[in-house]
Amino acid sequence: MILLCDLGKVIEEKIEKASLGDVMYAVPFDIDEKGMFSENYFAVTDKYLVSIRNGEIGLVLPKGKIEKVKAVELVGAGRLEVTVESVCHVVAKYTAEYMPQFAYIERIVQEIIDGEERVHESFDESKRCPNCGRNYLRNTRICPNCSDKLGMFKRLARLALPCKNLYIIILVLFWLNSAVMLISPEIQKRMIDDAIKNPEGTILTLIFFVILTALCNMSTTLIGIFRRIASVKASNRLVKDMRKEVYTKLQGMGIGKLEGKKTGDMMQRINRDTMRIGHFIQNIGIMAANEIVLFVSVAVVLFAYNYKMALLILLPIPLVMMIVNKIRSEVRRRYHTQWRKMDKMTSKLNDILNGMRVVKAFGREAWAIEQFSDVAVEVREQSIDNDRYSGTIWPVIRFLIGFGSYFVLLYGGNLVVGGDMSLGQLTQFSTYAGYLYNRLDWFAMLPRHLSEAATSAQRVFEILDEESDCNESEEKPCPEIRGDIVFKDVTFGYKSYRSVIKNFSLHVKEGEMIGLVGHSGAGKSTLINLLMRLYDVDDGAIEINGINLKEIDRAYYKHNLGIVLQESYLFAGSILSNICYAKPDATVDDVIRAAKIANAHDFIMRLPNGYDTYVGEKGYRLSGGERQRIAIARAVISDPKILILDEATASVDTETEAQIQEALTRLVKGRTTFAIAHRLSTLKNTNRLVVLEEGRIAEVGTHKELMERDGIYAGLVKAQRTMNAMNFNADEGGPRRGPGGRRGPGGPGGPPPR
Ligand code: ATP
Repeated sequence: MILLCDLGKVIEEKIEKASLGDVMYAVPFDIDEKGMFSENYFAVTDKYLVSIRNGEIGLVLPKGKIEKVKAVELVGAGRLEVTVESVCHVVAKYTAEYMPQFAYIERIVQEIIDGEERVHESFDESKRCPNCGRNYLRNTRICPNCSDKLGMFKRLARLALPCKNLYIIILVLFWLNSAVMLISPEIQKRMIDDAIKNPEGTILTLIFFVILTALCNMSTTLIGIFRRIASVKASNRLVKDMRKEVYTKLQGMGIGKLEGKKTGDMMQRINRDTMRIGHFIQNIGIMAANEIVLFVSVAVVLFAYNYKMALLILLPIPLVMMIVNKIRSEVRRRYHTQWRKMDKMTSKLNDILNGMRVVKAFGREAWAIEQFSDVAVEVREQSIDNDRYSGTIWPVIRFLIGFGSYFVLLYGGNLVVGGDMSLGQLTQFSTYAGYLYNRLDWFAMLPRHLSEAATSAQRVFEILDEESDCNESEEKPCPEIRGDIVFKDVTFGYKSYRSVIKNFSLHVKEGEMIGLVGHSGAGKSTLINLLMRLYDVDDGAIEINGINLKEIDRAYYKHNLGIVLQESYLFAGSILSNICYAKPDATVDDVIRAAKIANAHDFIMRLPNGYDTYVGEKGYRLSGGERQRIAIARAVISDPKILILDEATASVDTETEAQIQEALTRLVKGRTTFAIAHRLSTLKNTNRLVVLEEGRIAEVGTHKELMERDGIYAGLVKAQRTMNAMNFNADEGGPRRGPGGRRGPGGPGGPPPR
């Protein structure tokens, strides 16, 4: 987020002249007092808040006198209100584009009011390169124009270092191959001049040269096979190492960073980009050393042989270089467009496959097909267009490169006719010229390969360079987690400028069960996310047995945490392996004990393969209630001290719910438990209920206390009762369930607590 934009020299001078202090933050806004669009700025200096409208300094408010600040969100626009000495001033009006920046400014000014002023970094989140103004590559901060390609190839070379012995072998094989290639034309020349054209030549001499030629071909074939095996081995190792590194990096990233990434894009980086780098190393990188050596050697031989004819060979090269240089950026643009479209297609495919159940449920298969075909058609058209372009331009360039050979034939043929050159010599020269053309052809294609590989390498390195969220060095093993939890003035926001949890303080004693209640979006799941350490708090601390959560070894902490969520994800594998997930070293007895606690043992035993039943991708073959009970078994197996139940019974029917509730009652015994449930009846037996309102604690107490208080909680309970009564009336039967068995926020469902 840019929090310190360029105000321009004129405005800066005016601020200095008015002695308003040093500008710490400055953001633009676009609506003036009359509601017209104009260029304005809001600045925070070390002394004042300053509103700059149409280049003139307007409202100036002293920082020390600010009482209140609010970034008010309207429809499609917003305004920043600052209250000084009980007077509310609108210091800026802006369109939706500037809302995030002003939400941040609100936070900064609030810190000033609270006397907790901190430094907030200003950073560029735009999609354009600040150097050249070109768009970054999709989903990256890589500028194809300004990125350091040389540095990247050096980095790639460093990655390839563990296989250096293999590369040396490949190089030696390449050079052997080149030596044989350089000898072959000499053999050809001798065969023609000494055996074929020479009247004294015998059939034996001819056989000798034919055998020699065959041997040369055989050795180049053999060398080629060994070289290919070695380079496939080397490149595959590099690809494997890179994939492992990227995957490890992704695993180490916090959920906040991962949420900002597209699954399809990540898969492309792990699969396609690493593969492309592998191909580059195999087919281009290693060959480059050989091609350069061969090119120089052949050029030296040709010039030594006949410098005039050598010059004729090179005659079309300046023209070819000019053309290649001209089309380079067009080729790059075309291939970048094609990759971008392919990325889009993969993302779309990933999106549709993930939402397949919804597609099917709504009968939108035709729409899904259309969505995918649209992007598939775009890719096809771009790819046909690119192939047509390449298929035309490269043969023309190849023809131009080889054009010099016609001059050589003309000039050389003339020499042969005149008796100044033998036919064998001309053949030898033409073969060498062919070698040279092949090298030139290869060099002409090099920029495209380089560009492809550099882009892929950048995309891979971009992930590898991400800062890891696990600060393991700070984490030390905790002696024992008993479940005493203190939230100390915790503040957190998914976006640092918008707090979702605000100054939350609570002491939860060991073995206590806390029910989290509140309207939808109040921050219940966010609080649980913090406790699970999926995110770190922005301010304040969560202490487990007096130790800051950030200082506790992550794996150790998670081992002491049992989690049952609304949608339980089961990995592809047996039921046994799914229950063991939280404790890989668990015995079969442990698993059965956990399954019994979770009321899952009986239904598992009824399955065809019992605990070995393969539950398949996402455990689709099991019902919601069965999956949930496996999740409870998974939570209980490691005997956790802290338990988190986030809508654990929300997606099951009443009968299954009773079984799950029974399992949960056994499960929570002796453990510190946090439970979220929209159906308030399920929280009736908690020790305390914590009611959240806009991220703050609004009420705390037992069910009875909160009902007597007649506040938010009592309101939610009453709303549920009313909805329930309505459902009873509508049904003239038992309580009615919401669609899919789910209850909405504070909505109907099971009986509300009495
Ligand atoms: P519900 O009862 O509907 O599940 P909740 O009380 O659990 O709601 P949270 O899920 O904690 O509420 O969400 C609190 C706020 O944080 C909401 O405004 C939501 O939009 C926002 N939020 C939740 N998750 C994210 C996220 N991953 N990234 C950004 N904002 C988020």
